[in-house]
Amino acid sequence: MDSITVLMTSPMSDYLENQLKDRFNLVKLWTYSSKTDFFKHNSHSIRAIVGNTKIGADAELIDSLPELEIVSSYSVGLDKIDLRKCQEKGIRVTNTPDVLTDDVADVAMGLMLAVVRRVCECDRFVRRGLWPKGDFRLTNKFSGMQVGIVGLGRIGSAIAKRAEAFGCPISYYSRSEKPETNYKYFSNIIDLAVNCQILVVACALTEETHHIVNREVIDALGPEGILINIGRGSHIDEPELVSALLEGRLGGAGLDVYENEPEVPEQLFGLENVVLMPHVGSDTVETTDAMADLVIKNLEAHFLKKPLLTPVV
Ligand code: NAP
Repeated sequence: MDSITVLMTSPMSDYLENQLKDRFNLVKLWTYSSKTDFFKHNSHSIRAIVGNTKIGADAELIDSLPELEIVSSYSVGLDKIDLRKCQEKGIRVTNTPDVLTDDVADVAMGLMLAVVRRVCECDRFVRRGLWPKGDFRLTNKFSGMQVGIVGLGRIGSAIAKRAEAFGCPISYYSRSEKPETNYKYFSNIIDLAVNCQILVVACALTEETHHIVNREVIDALGPEGILINIGRGSHIDEPELVSALLEGRLGGAGLDVYENEPEVPEQLFGLENVVLMPHVGSDTVETTDAMADLVIKNLEAHFLKKPLLTPVV
């Protein structure tokens, strides 16, 4: 397959890069000085794109590559891919579902515990030598807190399962009710926010879910409520989140994703009730290797004219 040219849109994992290099003619977008330079040399050779959560395959890129047959995304989220354009042009799309579910759900639990039990603040307290001057103040009990999940998909369900083990009553909002679960369903996000103590965002980012967490939802969650986001930054109206936290209208937040990554609103840096992670939900050695293997297997299946493993389009 080394005559097939595959484009990687940004640095992902060394393992994935080496696996691609071993099998295909690999072109790395970030090594070109300009788009013009890249298109001049590669427009007519690229047959596959490997994108991620930073750079996927937008309409401009797709339209500039007339030989493109497949976009194999190194992510489960599809928000950086113009799916409509791919469908129109008959370009196949694959992603990396399931293999990352546990890691992202683990991070959601870590963020919940860290915010409620002030794990990062406690760590800073000890490192700054403050303990000998007096004990850390009381925090709140996490076990048994009401957890509301926005998007009961693979990751949302894995979070629910974990939170259940902590004795947390689970409720959720999705487009449809999941009768196979015994979690409480709310048909809108405001009612979910009113009826939970921790709201966890785990849905897909689409036009409909852009800013699904707005001022009204934040106010429904209230000054004791905690917001966790392991979905995508644009699920939350970020300036509204920042002002709610600064004004004490929201109790706390645990965030892995942001609207303009890697930029994070600086006003959050001084807030002890906020825990910040740099979009690392699925970034473990084990899971990134499994994601890379899935990317490769999908590409190989496509070029060998076999069924794709995880097709989206
Ligand atoms: P999934 O199984 O497809 O679940 C997505 C969920 O979103 C579905 O349950 C769907 O529920 C819900 N949803 C879609 N549109 C909705 C709407 N308009 N209103 C309410 N809910 C809606 O995907 P997954 O594997 O769980 O992944 C979920 C998301 O996690 C990904 O799309 C990605 O953005 C994010 N993610 C983040 C990281 C990280 O590193 N932080 C890593 C991996 C994934 P219904 O169909 O019932 O509405």
